[in-house]
Amino acid sequence: HLTIGVLAVQGAFEAHAQVLRSLGVNAPLVRLPEDLASLDGLILPGGESTTFLKHLERNGFFDALGTFVRHRPSFGTCAGTILLAKDVRNPVQKSLAVLDATVERNAYGRQIDSTIQETETTLPGGPMEMVYIRAPRIASVGDGVEVLARRNGDPVLVREGRILAATFHPELSADRRVHELFVEMVRQDKLAHSATEAHAG
Ligand code: GLN
Repeated sequence: HLTIGVLAVQGAFEAHAQVLRSLGVNAPLVRLPEDLASLDGLILPGGESTTFLKHLERNGFFDALGTFVRHRPSFGTCAGTILLAKDVRNPVQKSLAVLDATVERNAYGRQIDSTIQETETTLPGGPMEMVYIRAPRIASVGDGVEVLARRNGDPVLVREGRILAATFHPELSADRRVHELFVEMVRQDKLAHSATEAHAG
């Protein structure tokens, strides 16, 4: 069984945990740095990134998370994407800096721009419903970043190696494709790790 933790210091964590469980994955809530120890992957949910940072500044959580996202698959949605991005603007803000992207917070306006759109993606299965809640804008991405979907030209779903990031909230739609993709990324990563460990042992 795969175990994918959901960061649960604040924000929209419960819906992510439910989607993961519906896909047959163990989904413990991560509230303390030591909860990261036995995870195969991690979801960083939406919420308020400044509030996340405040919580994470306690008991070495920020550094533990930084180590985790550099070694295991991690999936950010909305505020989670802001935490993963290398460059955060509006205003400039500290981040874990593992996703080669520039992100502008609240770039589509305040509460007004909470919206639902149908958008094409590179995933099979046709257009996808995307729920945006005070979403950030991915203004630019580095060469190593694969863009899986765009909204009016801006990337909204991107992947860079073990990192997956969405500016929308896939956990709030019935469509499971984004979570299924992440679960598959985690499965592949775990296989690669156990192969290396078997070889070393
Ligand atoms: N506006 C939030 C931020 O800047 C993100 C909103 C969300 O996660 N739904 O952190």
